[in-house]
Amino acid sequence: MRPLQRPDYTGKPIKKYKDYLEALQTAFGQYCAYCERLDKLDVEHVVPQSKAPELRLTWSNLLLACSRCNRDFKRSQNDSRDGYIWPDIDNPLLYLDYLPDGRVRVQATLKVAEKQKAENTIALLCLDDKAQKQIVLNRARRNTFRVAQQAKENYLKRYSSIDEVLAQAALGHWSVWFRVFEDVPEVVEALWNCSDFPNTGFRLIREKTNVD
Ligand SMILES: [Zn+2]
Repeated sequence: MRPLQRPDYTGKPIKKYKDYLEALQTAFGQYCAYCERLDKLDVEHVVPQSKAPELRLTWSNLLLACSRCNRDFKRSQNDSRDGYIWPDIDNPLLYLDYLPDGRVRVQATLKVAEKQKAENTIALLCLDDKAQKQIVLNRARRNTFRVAQQAKENYLKRYSSIDEVLAQAALGHWSVWFRVFEDVPEVVEALWNCSDFPNTGFRLIREKTNVD
């Protein structure tokens, strides 16, 4: 999950929640807020409509999600935001660790309560789908790790530019690219500021991890 800084909604009043799709894509890019894949996206209610009908048209309750995350897994399982981490209010990089073999795990340094929230989130969205038949996410992240590691090698040998790295990263899995390049500050900075990934929560990350 890429950390997101939600901008204010400044468009016209909305009557149907699906009409927020374009504003959400402008705000956050064309990626699922949970699995980070470039995919067909729906307007997703963070607190489900069935649990909080009053938030049905509330901008701060909406994100973009693919049908896998939105319909197949998360559905209406959560009653509220409590007990989970969310990309628009938490910094997922502090909670989730992405491994080169495609798995996602909770960060080892977390305290018990925080660890539980990270585990709840992985379970809610089936972010670590190794046990699933299709293992869509694990396989995609593993492939992205390979591509990103090769891109890093090429970049460090000066065979490719930052723009070329970003063009590959735009295919999805921002967090994997962040992990692979986290010791290359200028690429990390570029990933934060990349127009394909608008409103990445960089200030929050920089304060907490001292990447400068
Ligand atoms: Zn997804």
